[in-house]
Order: sequence, then structure tokens, then C-alpha cells
Amino acid sequence: MKTHYGTYGGQYVAETLMKPLADMAVAYDEAKADPAFKREFDEILRDYVGRESPLTVCRRLSAHLGGAQIVLKREDLNHTGAHKVNNTIGQALLARRMGKKRLIAETGAGMHGVATATVAALFGMPCEVYMGAIDVKRQAPNVARMEMLGAKVHAVEEGSATLKDAMNEAIRDWVTNCDDTFYVIGTVAGPAPYPEMVRDFQSVIGVEARRQCLEKFGRLPDQAIACVGGGSNAMGLFAGFIDDADVRLVGVEAGGKGLATGEHAASINGGRLGVLHGAKTMLLQTDDGNILDTYSVSAGLDYPGVGPEHCHLHDTGRAEYSVINDDEAVAAFDALCRFEGIIPALESSHALAEAIKRAPSLPKDTILLVNLSGRGDKDMENIMKWKESRRSASGSSAKSEG
Ligand SMILES: *Cc1c(COP(=O)(O)O)cnc(C)c1O
Repeated sequence: MKTHYGTYGGQYVAETLMKPLADMAVAYDEAKADPAFKREFDEILRDYVGRESPLTVCRRLSAHLGGAQIVLKREDLNHTGAHKVNNTIGQALLARRMGKKRLIAETGAGMHGVATATVAALFGMPCEVYMGAIDVKRQAPNVARMEMLGAKVHAVEEGSATLKDAMNEAIRDWVTNCDDTFYVIGTVAGPAPYPEMVRDFQSVIGVEARRQCLEKFGRLPDQAIACVGGGSNAMGLFAGFIDDADVRLVGVEAGGKGLATGEHAASINGGRLGVLHGAKTMLLQTDDGNILDTYSVSAGLDYPGVGPEHCHLHDTGRAEYSVINDDEAVAAFDALCRFEGIIPALESSHALAEAIKRAPSLPKDTILLVNLSGRGDKDMENIMKWKESRRSASGSSAKSEG
């Protein structure tokens, strides 16, 4: 089992969870070596998720920008509309293999909760999802989806009633029920072996994209760009290209209203070293170590930390991490709608915004591969509200100027 990435990672958990984590690591190593496990995983990805997901060249958008070609890896076309289901299928298969009867998860924006509830239904397992009470209110459609799929959603009232509190409650449940319960973590975070396991399950994104690039263009992309919340869609993409030294790996964090405002979710660019969710990593915290609530126009980038492997890739320079603010992400969202007829998730719009920034100054034969981690249907209400608040803000400032 890989426990550390440089100085990051590890297993900062209660003593009672050391044995369950060790058992999980052994079971995962056995599963990885078992061709039947891989076969079943691949079969579900094909027949249920609809893989492989295509590559789409953004012809009109690239021509408009007048530089590099922007190419999308279409995780938005997966069943459930995002990449998260790749991972929940892998973990549910492992849970079943370990004889666990019950799945639990925590969720912030609700997307991981929906992905877990989906596989719980598929596998006929009971599922309970912990979600901060504030998020339950903010993300009502996802709560309805989880319940429709048969999951029980617990509204967590403790602390600030958001994701970090939901994580604490999920871990508490796991400590109590670890004999029969599997804790499904939604990103490349948490104690070992989760970061490695989740990356491996998501690596299908990068492995497919690499092969598709070679087939379509006869060469690899120049840059592989993905948004980073906890970092699972990015690690999944990067995994396909990590040994290709010429492919630049670019992670994009959510800058919210700007790093200087403190209202953001950029753990690598704006956080400090600490311990969260059982691992040592970069995270957003106060001077005395309290975890801060994150802010971004895109609710799915709300994880207050980041996967330990990203911190290490940042330190070694193998990957670079930039920041995109709300305004830039929404502009990229609009551009993809208008130029390509694709409504992207606001999370994915951060990665796209970075490509849009880079493309004009690059030669036309440069390929920027962007992971379109999800579709934007879930963001409609949010984006309409955001635009409305922008309109009224500019309206009132115009008035005060006049
Ligand atoms: C959850 C989510 C993300 C962020 O999670 P990562 O673990 O960083 O990938 C990004 N895009 C979409 C569409 C999501 O649902």
C-alpha cells in the first residue's frame, strides 16, 4: 500500500480504524491483481456508465480564440453526468468483495452522494449519506435524487453544518459500524489507501484519453488540464500521462471571489499544511487550525483540502496548479454553450477557463486536452441566480455613477 506522497498523506485516524484500513488495503491489492475484478469493473463502465467517453475537438471555440486547439474529454456524457461514478463503482465492487453489506458516504454539493446512491441501488446495498444541514437546503435537488434512489440522507447540524462536519459524522458512523459497513470516499483524499484507490479507479479517464489522442491526432496532447476540488478527476486524467514528461499537467483550483478576499477553495495556492479527513495535506484553515468553509460559484469544488498526491506533484513540479475565479469560470461556461452547444458543469468550466486563457498565445498545432468532468444541468438555477446578482450589481453601480 502506498501511504505517503512525499511528506503528504498517511493515516491520521482513530486507533479503531487502523485495522479496517489495513484490511481494505489488503483487499484492494488482491482485487487489483485479480483479472475477474478488473473485468467486472470494465464491463460495468462499458454497459452501465456508457464508456468509453469520446474526445471532442472544440472547432469553433478554438478558431475564435485563434491559437491552440482545445479538445475535451467528455466525462459529462457518463451515466449520472460526471466522472464520480467511475470511483463509486470501483469502491462498491471492493465493498462487495470484502463482504460489506452497507455503504456510507459524505457529500457536500451532493454529487458524490448521488453517485454512491446510484451504485448502492445497482448493487442492492443499503446506503446512508451524511450531508451538512446547510448543504441539504442549498442542494435540495440532489437530496431528492438520493432519496429517489433509495438512500437515507442525514442532515448534519453540528459545526458549520457543511461538508467538513458531514465528513466527521461519516467517520463516526464508520468507527461504530466498520464490521459490516464500507465508507465510500468521493475524491483522492482521506487516509491511505483511499487516495491511491480512487486515483486508480479514475485513471480510466487518462488511459482512455491518451489512447484516443494517439488515434485521433497521432500524438499526445501538449497539456492536460483539469479542475481540482479534492482532485479525483484531475488525478484520473493525469494518471494517463504522468510518465510522458512532455505532457504538461495542469490542475485548476477555484479562486472564488479572488485569493486575496479569502473567499475561495484553492487549497494548494491559498492553503497551509495540516491534517484533514485522515491525511496530511494542504488545506484551508485559520491560524489556530480550524478548517475554513470554502467558497466558489461551483459547489462541487467545495472540498476544504486537496488530495495528498497533488501536493506532492506540486512540490516536485511535475504538475502546475493555477487559479480561476468565478467570473472567468462563468465566462468559460457561456463560451462552451455558445460556441460548441455543450453546457458544462461549473466545476469543469474552471479547467476550460484555464485553456481559454492559454490558447490564444499558443501555436495552432498545440493541443490542450481539457477534462470536462461533468455536465451543467445541475448548475442551471445557480448560474441564473449568479447572473441575476451580477445584473443587479452592475445596474445599481451604473445608477450610482449616473
Ligand atoms: C465533484 C466534482 C468535481 C470535483 O471533484 P474532484 O475530486 O476534484 O474531481 C469536479 N467536477 C464535477 C463535475 C464534480 O461533480
